[in-house]
Amino acid sequence: MPHLTNKQLDSGITLTACHDCDLLFPMPHLHKGEKAICPRCGALVLERKGHSFDYSLALALTSLILFTIANINTLLRMNVAGRSESENIISGVYELYTQGYWEIAALVFVVSIFAPLLKILCVFYVLAPLKFNARLPYAKQVFRFFEVLHPWAMTEVYMLGILVALVKLADLATINVGIALYAFAALIPFMAATDASLDDHEIWERLEPSD
Ligand SMILES: [Zn+2]
Repeated sequence: MPHLTNKQLDSGITLTACHDCDLLFPMPHLHKGEKAICPRCGALVLERKGHSFDYSLALALTSLILFTIANINTLLRMNVAGRSESENIISGVYELYTQGYWEIAALVFVVSIFAPLLKILCVFYVLAPLKFNARLPYAKQVFRFFEVLHPWAMTEVYMLGILVALVKLADLATINVGIALYAFAALIPFMAATDASLDDHEIWERLEPSD
């Protein structure tokens, strides 16, 4: 959702601009689960999600556990001409690097390991203290960074890459799927659910008083 343009009037009423038709209208105070609809064009201007921070934190914790399982266990075990080889996510990145594809190795590292882990840690850093009405230093910057990271955590693209490789290699080698692949597959919906559960508007409102 685009950032809202708010204007505080002297009377204390906050005017909000509709991002579709630019109508300025007074924003009512919304409770959890309520929506603000533009009175002129009917566009959804703001939606307060009904979830608590606990719900988002539980999803983030599950994501962190799945992420850990996916990274410390075997992703694939390949048997080619009597030679058995186990690969996990980081060894795949290292393999790309040693074969001279350092740009691809860096990209795979960022989208499948670095960005997803940072995103999960950002959720903990911002939300866990907010639950107790506290803010850690630079919480606003961390949450802004979290929003920037969003397009870089492409776990689903990495998963698709693995599946394509599996199909292509199926005729050439005997492949056993490791527990890390299942954990990685499960991580995708949990990370999406964590994102979907976050009420950006409420988080920004709670972070603002630190100014
Ligand atoms: Zn409108």
